[in-house]
Amino acid sequence: MQHQLQRRMIESELIDAVGRDWVLTEEADRIIYGVDYMWIPRMWIDRGLVPPLPDFVVLPKDAEQIAKVVRIANVYRIPIIPWGGGSGSQGGIMPVYGGITIDLKRLNRIVEINHEAQTVTVLAGINGYELESALNNEGYTLAHIPASLHSATLGGYIACRGSGVLSTKYGKIEDIVLSLEVVLPMGEIIRTLPLPNHAAGPGILDLFVGAEGSYGIITEATLKIEKIPEERRFRAFLFGSLKEGLEAGKTIMLERLNPSVIRLYDEPETAKRIKKILGISVEQGSYMVLGFDEKKQLIDIKEKTSVGICSGFGAKELSDDIAWEWWRHRYNFFFPPHALDFPLMFGTMDTLCTFDKIENLYWTKKQTLEERYREWELEYFAHLSHWYAWGVMLYDRFIVKNPPQDPEEALSLHNEIWNVAVRTSIACGGVLNEHHGVGLKLARLMREQYGPAFCVLEGLKKSLDPHNIMNPGKMGFGPIE
Ligand SMILES: Cc1cc2nc3c(=O)[nH]c(=O)nc-3n(C[C@H](O)[C@H](O)[C@H](O)COP(=O)(O)OP(=O)(O)OC[C@H]3O[C@@H](n4cnc5c(N)ncnc54)[C@H](O)[C@@H]3O)c2cc1C
Repeated sequence: MQHQLQRRMIESELIDAVGRDWVLTEEADRIIYGVDYMWIPRMWIDRGLVPPLPDFVVLPKDAEQIAKVVRIANVYRIPIIPWGGGSGSQGGIMPVYGGITIDLKRLNRIVEINHEAQTVTVLAGINGYELESALNNEGYTLAHIPASLHSATLGGYIACRGSGVLSTKYGKIEDIVLSLEVVLPMGEIIRTLPLPNHAAGPGILDLFVGAEGSYGIITEATLKIEKIPEERRFRAFLFGSLKEGLEAGKTIMLERLNPSVIRLYDEPETAKRIKKILGISVEQGSYMVLGFDEKKQLIDIKEKTSVGICSGFGAKELSDDIAWEWWRHRYNFFFPPHALDFPLMFGTMDTLCTFDKIENLYWTKKQTLEERYREWELEYFAHLSHWYAWGVMLYDRFIVKNPPQDPEEALSLHNEIWNVAVRTSIACGGVLNEHHGVGLKLARLMREQYGPAFCVLEGLKKSLDPHNIMNPGKMGFGPIE
């Protein structure tokens, strides 16, 4: 970076833009902005190395202040990294070329709950749990409930095209968001059309949903909200194998029974994690939880029809207590002592495909990874948790119990496993990722996934962000120019 004197000059401009208290330059302050939940930076720290840090952290209070910071960054060609809650798993917040991290947590206000339209307008830095609690107090829910609810922000949900536990009924965040305010890379503040469903040209909204800060900084969003359901129910089943569970889930979706949850665990995850985490004894097979959020007069018929479909595929019904145990303990899977953590090497490789391809994708990936990394005793397991009327998301994970201690070797093994995993998903009709995003972790595979179509994303990037200051090194876009 620049000489210390120039650095101080830039710092004084940033202070002028956002106020002295809101510019951080001490290493102790900057260090937490260098790492999220991606395995590589955490391994780097675990092995005694320092991850890349931002040169400055700023905490602006509104879109106007963000626009000022972005304009300064353009003058000096300094990277900008938007930072929500830092709970991402793809290294999206990593300042790999240094720069200015913009922490959005001061943009945390609900602007309006519109009871007539049943929408909420809210600033993008709001914490997910705070937003959900405020809506619950008014009798509503955002219905986007990720396992990272307590740490992620609304902007992070939208920037990563995230998914929540009830997404099968209510949709992913891209189905919930209606319109956005965005600070563009050159500092203009824009608003997308008030609604996503229009025929006034292609949807600009979609450019920012999933862009992980590459096309701009989301500062405000209007989203649809749901009334808290009259009734919520869960049922649990054990299928003879994943195959029967898949058939049952597919039938429920094709018959449009609109469940809130279908979570189907493969046999390894049922045997190891369901037993251990829920403390229940289940026989061998594939565990499924089925959920319904409905009006009282509709729930019986939908539930009964779905239970009949599961029985038709040979499922053994488990007690409702077991189903509710899963709902009550749903976060336990992701937090200590059950979260995947060091000294393991691990990764969640979620992908998505149509129903006709899902079984082949699962088995091909499992066999390819377990055979290829036999000497590392790689374990592969999965569940299926976001269902569409045409296909399903596979939340598949790998574990290597004793990864190399040497950081370079560990990085090589990690990236090789990911390359094989993602290429296998794509070859089997899947996608690079379904709801965690791309970040730094998968940036190198974006061109492979898109082929010649990547020029569309790249062309937009070049015209919106000619100096490539916005989150460089992510999404396959390369370094700052
Ligand atoms: C224990 C755990 C459980 C998780 N469970 C889920 C889950 O159930 N569902 C799910 O979808 N994800 C899950 N995640 C992943 C992660 O929480 C989500 O991707 C979340 O949406 C990230 O939000 P964040 O605010 O923490 O984003 P950050 O990590 O701060 O940022 C993520 C990316 O978005 C960009 N960004 C952040 N805010 C903005 C903004 N306002 N404008 C533009 N770009 C922005 C950042 O630059 C970065 O590239 C989980 C993670 C953990 C650690």
